[in-house]
Amino acid sequence: IRHALILTTRHQRSEGERIGGQLGSRFAATFANAEMHTPVEVTEAAVQVVETNDIDGLIAVGGGSTVGLSKALSARTGLPQIAVPTTYAGSEMTPILGETRGGIKTTRRSRDLVPDTVIYDVDLTLGLPPDLSASSGMNAIAHAVEALYAFDANPVTSLMAEEGIAALARALPRILDAPSDRAGRRDALYGAWLCGTCLGAVGMSLHHKLCHVLGGSFDLPHALTHAIVLPHVAAYNTPAAPEAMQRIARALGQSDAALGLYDLARRLKIPKRLADIGMPHAGIAEAADLATRNPYANPRPVDRAALHGLIGRAWDGHPPLLQ
Ligand code: NAD
Repeated sequence: IRHALILTTRHQRSEGERIGGQLGSRFAATFANAEMHTPVEVTEAAVQVVETNDIDGLIAVGGGSTVGLSKALSARTGLPQIAVPTTYAGSEMTPILGETRGGIKTTRRSRDLVPDTVIYDVDLTLGLPPDLSASSGMNAIAHAVEALYAFDANPVTSLMAEEGIAALARALPRILDAPSDRAGRRDALYGAWLCGTCLGAVGMSLHHKLCHVLGGSFDLPHALTHAIVLPHVAAYNTPAAPEAMQRIARALGQSDAALGLYDLARRLKIPKRLADIGMPHAGIAEAADLATRNPYANPRPVDRAALHGLIGRAWDGHPPLLQ
């Protein structure tokens, strides 16, 4: 790469420029407008910047939003990508891209979308605020939870998933107590890599489907939505995936997976209620309709009434309903 375009959100522009400054003449420009859910208008504006600056490679410095922009740009321009993740979302390890056009989010998978190089640098995560660290870490745990009961799970992804949950469950409370604890941050990045690899390797189920619907329909913050919904989906799936749940509970050091996830979220001071992060009450019925419209893999069959109850509990902030 001789003319690199550095991608960031508005919030991380100065971090991107600092890294650009270390690249000397290879730093061509910064595009600092990455946004959650990868709106196509933003990607199209970035394509203009690529064309006018003779860019020959992309460097994404940030979380899932910035890595998403990098994937979308690479898909349109064929440019190579270096990802420098600064959250625990894990997008850098996956062939998945979700893009939003006119408020509708569509997802595609292709090996070409995977960044060519990923650089994990603990220093760049020290400034991730404790609340974002907690929700981002729970988002990573969600990838591993669903990997453990995926229809195409295999022994290696299951090992990685269990190890990823254990690493994050150890690291996140430490980070909350001491955000610049390097050992905690290192474990969290290790866990994020494991969980992101699982997300890229096997199919996801009800939890990811539901969070996709909730995020897309009500513009809810991605990681927090995952963190609130996860214990409820784990409880729902427990009767149909006992072995996966045993492994999740073991990784958490608890006797029950769903309650263990709920307890971890409480220790991490994550809000309990979807109502508190901007979801309208009328959205419960709408989301239950949308999330049962098309079939998808899940260990336990999903029906509208069950889903309505599950979303309602998450909206109200009740503990997960053990089945
Ligand atoms: P994000 O990328 O939207 O970041 C959230 C905020 O935190 C932003 O303002 C960002 O600038 C800031 N931030 C990030 N790192 C920071 C740091 N170290 N210090 C200070 N501030 C920092 O959040 P996210 O949860 O990482 O990503 C969410 C998006 O990623 C969603 O659009 C989601 O759909 C997508 N995603 C995609 C995949 C995939 O495989 N395609 C996987 C996970 C998430």
